[in-house]
Amino acid sequence: MRWRHWESTEFRPNSPRLRVYKPARPGCADRLMSEETRPSLYGYTCSELEALVVEWGSKGVHAAKIWRHLYLEGRSDWETIHELPQQLAQRLHTEMSAGELPITRETHSSDGFTRKYLLGLKDGHQIETVLMRYSGRVTACISSQVGCAMGCVFCATGQMGYTRHLTAAEIVAQALHVDRTLRETTQENPALAESDHESPHHRHERLRNIVLMGMGEPLHNYDAVIKATEILRDPGGLALGAKKITLSTVGVIPGIIRLADERQPIHLAVSLHAADQAKRASIVPVAKKWTLDELMQACRYYVEKMDRRIFFEWTLIEGENDRAEDAHAVGRLLKTVPCQVNLIPLNPTSGYEGVPSDLTSAKRFQSILAEYGLPSTVRQRRGIDIAAGCGQLAIAEE
Ligand code: SF4
Repeated sequence: MRWRHWESTEFRPNSPRLRVYKPARPGCADRLMSEETRPSLYGYTCSELEALVVEWGSKGVHAAKIWRHLYLEGRSDWETIHELPQQLAQRLHTEMSAGELPITRETHSSDGFTRKYLLGLKDGHQIETVLMRYSGRVTACISSQVGCAMGCVFCATGQMGYTRHLTAAEIVAQALHVDRTLRETTQENPALAESDHESPHHRHERLRNIVLMGMGEPLHNYDAVIKATEILRDPGGLALGAKKITLSTVGVIPGIIRLADERQPIHLAVSLHAADQAKRASIVPVAKKWTLDELMQACRYYVEKMDRRIFFEWTLIEGENDRAEDAHAVGRLLKTVPCQVNLIPLNPTSGYEGVPSDLTSAKRFQSILAEYGLPSTVRQRRGIDIAAGCGQLAIAEE
């Protein structure tokens, strides 16, 4: 019953559009069951795929063809792709899974800017992925875990608890799902195609941005998340720019240090929410383990080592952290850190009673930050009617 508020919202008259998916054809569920134990191709980097193809006795050059079909053509019907040796196509068909995540439910926000997908995993768990169209850009909000162990008080994912990490393949598959959606949308409306470029990748509207801000704490699942970003950045595949991928953490310090030491080129966002230790620990329990002082040291280490700014996220909660004195505290804390502050009015969840700040308070907060030379944005609230906003993603486990 805990998550009923958004379930029922979807079904009321004049509610946002909802599609419930059933198996496409008889036997589809059986086919998926039989694929349960097969490794997913989405979990392989291009060089790992090449090594596999060579191990199977084929020439490594075929890996690039498989990669192209998988990521640019959206195909995995290997036995009908004649440029692959028959034996290789047969092994791909019988021993590997394409790794697509079956869609259980799709909801569209009433303003048309946001779509939320409920996707199934092989072990029966489910995750949510969001497609957002803001300012002419398409961004996918991707999950990194089933649930989350961090327990941020205002967050629906935190309220549902932690179940397990996602694999790199499951993270990549979410981006591929959104990209496929764009391909289908373009087929319905060819005007959305980017250009008449010969590459199949450009014949449909492209997924250009990814934010790892869905379900889960990405730095709690570091290896799989970073591997997924490498696969998504591969120039022969989706070819996402490193600066088009933003990883958001609540402050997992070892992960922040590791990002810097490995010089991972993606952007980093840190959820701050409070500028003093006691208040932050009451909103973000993980701050009891990694204190605000330690977090700021890690952030300074990151910006110095990476020579780039950091994004700080601040969920604005009325009367809790949106007063003028809170804004001054942020200003004092961050004025020497190269950064941008993203202010996000709280999105409602059934497990938290806080209220979002109004626009006047948000603007006042922003103007105080400006006094300290801190650039900031107030994030547009989108997708709230389908519970697709920041902190709203959650699955009601049976
Ligand atoms: S805000 Fe992020 S880190 Fe915090 S509980 Fe939610 S998903 Fe986890």
